[in-house]
Amino acid sequence: MSNTPVLEMRNIAKVFGKFYALKGVDLTVWPGEIHALMGENGAGKSTLMKILAGAYSATSGEILIDGQPYAIKSPKDALAAGITLIYQEMQLAPNLTVAENIFLGSEIARGGLVQRKEMVAQAQAVIDRLGANFNATDRVMKLTIAEQQQVEIARALHRNSRILVMDEPTAALSSRETHRLFELILRLRDEGMAIIYISHRMAEVYELSDRVSVLRDGQYVGSLTRDKLNASELVRMMVGRPLSDL
Ligand code: ADP
Ligand code: MG
Repeated sequence: MSNTPVLEMRNIAKVFGKFYALKGVDLTVWPGEIHALMGENGAGKSTLMKILAGAYSATSGEILIDGQPYAIKSPKDALAAGITLIYQEMQLAPNLTVAENIFLGSEIARGGLVQRKEMVAQAQAVIDRLGANFNATDRVMKLTIAEQQQVEIARALHRNSRILVMDEPTAALSSRETHRLFELILRLRDEGMAIIYISHRMAEVYELSDRVSVLRDGQYVGSLTRDKLNASELVRMMVGRPLSDL
């Protein structure tokens, strides 16, 4: 494993009006790890990741990519840093094809002509690499939620993303689809991608994660590595008191 984190978020704060959604949050993510981000509803997980993806700007704090300070002021900046966030709400254009979605904003054109065949071929190659069962020419609206997620992952691969954030990706999946997604996430991890996996489901975190960081009320509580995972300790970190008091 590399000795430089692919991502460090330091002392991140985010204020909405007068409300601190995040306060002094740190997060360190290594290449080739699945890093679970846990916390109760409202803990600030999505807000932290929206800052990483350039959808929100942090009120204060610092982000380092490969050990270098990196200002993320827009989704474009995040993309350039190799960061893809797959939101809870899908971000695809339903009326466009899979290939059009994968290439959205980065269409191949020569002499003013969009090279449709070439884009379809490249998109299909990425889809096949994922082992997905749809075609590059299918319209996104006819795909299942799980397949739409695969399109988003295909887009991340196409963009050479090195940090993939998934925000509660299994919320709308069947157990079979969840199993397939986990296989894919593990494969991407083994290829060196860093995956930030937001969840409040203990079983998923146990199955997948190499490390877990916990937020509570907008604050960073701590991290546990896989060998130190302990359900009652995690619950205590998430809710701030032992399981026996609940
Ligand atoms: P989580 O993803 O951990 O459930 P969020 O990051 O969505 O939590 O929200 C953290 C807190 O910030 C919540 O109290 C939420 O209501 C608040 N919040 C999130 N986004 C906004 C916003 N755009 N405007 C105002 N408050 C927000
Ligand atoms: Mg959330």
